[in-house]
Amino acid sequence: MPAACDYLVIGSGAADAVVAARLSDDPDIQVVLLEAGGRDNSLLLKLPGLGFAVGTHPRYYNWGHETAPVPGLMGRPELRICEAFSAAAAGMGFPILDDLNRDTVDGFGYYDINVGDGRRLSTATAFLRPNDSRSNLTVVTGALATRLINKGGRAVGADILQGAGLGKSR
Ligand SMILES: Cc1cc2nc3c(=O)[nH]c(=O)nc-3n(C[C@H](O)[C@H](O)[C@H](O)COP(=O)(O)OP(=O)(O)OC[C@H]3O[C@@H](n4cnc5c(N)ncnc54)[C@H](O)[C@@H]3O)c2cc1C
Repeated sequence: MPAACDYLVIGSGAADAVVAARLSDDPDIQVVLLEAGGRDNSLLLKLPGLGFAVGTHPRYYNWGHETAPVPGLMGRPELRICEAFSAAAAGMGFPILDDLNRDTVDGFGYYDINVGDGRRLSTATAFLRPNDSRSNLTVVTGALATRLINKGGRAVGADILQGAGLGKSR
């Protein structure tokens, strides 16, 4: 990992992978991307449908945070009964939406998933993998940022826990 960089991106999730890839489009800019988790190499994560179930596994691919019980989430429908579920919702007067990413999200409908060549497509796969060979983009997995380093009111780095010990990235 470089001792210093121009941009330190913390977390390599859906948004951060795109940010790091876009920043490193400029070869004169050094980008370090820190991710607390591991790589998303498992084939299980690439399978539409199954990938969602695997991703909810708290031990391997998920932080395992839990919420208080949510009354509105009781009795989730299985996929094969989606049509019947939608029809029932419509029958009860709920709006049926054809695009859940538009301005109105109150209602029922199918949500979009990112799939390429029949596999689930994460932003890491779409934006980081094609840029693996960039010398100005360093992806560090297993690196948990524990504290931001503040200098004159500006975040200039982070303390990180990686493997056995505490390090710094600036
Ligand atoms: C199992 C599952 C399936 C999903 N499927 C879909 C889907 O099909 N379609 C859809 O639209 N949405 C889906 N979602 C929701 C979607 O994943 C989230 O809305 C989206 O990932 C949020 O993006 P984000 O960039 O805000 O955060 P995240 O993608 O959660 O990224 C945050 C990243 O930062 C890392 N991180 C956090 N703290 C630190 C730290 N201190 N140091 C280093 N790294 C850190 C985390 O490990 C994580 O990788 C799914 C969610 C789950 C759990």
